[in-house]
Amino acid sequence: MNPHRRDFLRAVSVGSLAAAALDSESNARAAGPPGRPILLPRTDLQIAAIETYTRGTNLSIVRVIASDGSDGFGQAAPYDADITATVLHRKVAPLWLGKDPAAVQSLVQQSVESNYKFPWSFVCRATAGVETAVWDLLGKKAGKSVCRLLGGDPRPLPVYGSSMSRTITPEREAERIKRLKEEKGFTAFKIRIGKVNGHDEDQWSGRTEALVPAVRQAVGRQTVLLADGNSCYTPKKAIAVGRLLERHDYRHFEEPCPFWELEWTQKVAKALRIPIAGGEQDNDLAQFRRMIRMGAVDIVQPDVCYVGGVSRTMEVAAMAAEKRLKCVPHSANLSMLILFTLHIFAAISNPGDHVEWTIENDEWTRDLYSPAIDVREGKVEAPEGPGWGVEINPTWLAAAAKLESHAKD
Ligand SMILES: [Mg+2]
Repeated sequence: MNPHRRDFLRAVSVGSLAAAALDSESNARAAGPPGRPILLPRTDLQIAAIETYTRGTNLSIVRVIASDGSDGFGQAAPYDADITATVLHRKVAPLWLGKDPAAVQSLVQQSVESNYKFPWSFVCRATAGVETAVWDLLGKKAGKSVCRLLGGDPRPLPVYGSSMSRTITPEREAERIKRLKEEKGFTAFKIRIGKVNGHDEDQWSGRTEALVPAVRQAVGRQTVLLADGNSCYTPKKAIAVGRLLERHDYRHFEEPCPFWELEWTQKVAKALRIPIAGGEQDNDLAQFRRMIRMGAVDIVQPDVCYVGGVSRTMEVAAMAAEKRLKCVPHSANLSMLILFTLHIFAAISNPGDHVEWTIENDEWTRDLYSPAIDVREGKVEAPEGPGWGVEINPTWLAAAAKLESHAKD
């Protein structure tokens, strides 16, 4: 076995899920065994209203208001968020209104099971919106960050600079990564190889073969490099590309094959020494269980918003921990998703070495919340303060399309 892979797997402790709850006098801390729900004692509150604030098609912020007027903010999954907001009010909100916010984990489960005719996808994308807003509310009530509610210890976390571009040339990508390393102190980066769902085609002929060595040469041997295939390859081609990555000392190969073809990915994982990462698109917990048990992936990457929120991400992390695998939640943009990810990353027992941090300048996430967060000496810390630790910018909300659902009296 490749030494990187071996060290990587050995470094994962099979600790119990870092599960905790609200504080004792008000609410008792109660860590559970791996994968078990976090015990949150009842509050005397009910969820009175759920509001969505949607701008364009990319982003929908969710506000949950409790019966005492306190509130919390979360976010549904980005992209086609206007559709998600409709699903949220029609298919998810009615299940949460009038309920105790401390029942958050069972309400997530009910949201998925009650919508069994519409499994996962938009139901999970919408559920994540309500659920993350409820965690903010619970944190504010307890005067604690969500990270601490989950039993975590907030701290600066190393990030990897994640390129989202396949249109950039190998030369320009190598230059850009070298400059960012010098300017912001990144110790790791991820590049895009092949073509999205590419059926073995490259973005253009020879790009991957030029990019992989060019970036390694630009940053030297000490910088961690990762590569993402975004479901490009058949197993045969993936193994050939994986060997190229191994020759240049890359440390993970993400989504080498179409993500739904677990047997293909398993075959690639068996053939290669480089650790295989995957799971960002998946939202079915049973599918995560399968991919972990069959050894298709070495690094598990649930996306907090795609999978259905904090509770389900913690469940996936616990499943991975039981098999001594690391969990690196997918966080490809600087919307509230990166906040959720930072809080969770510092709370799970099996985090990877770096949090994903986009190096693209996305206009649609700009000025969404304050305080803004940024990379310092290659690290980022979640803002201090209760809940997610941020205020949603009032001018951002004022420019959004608002929908609301209310509990019946
Ligand atoms: Mg990816």
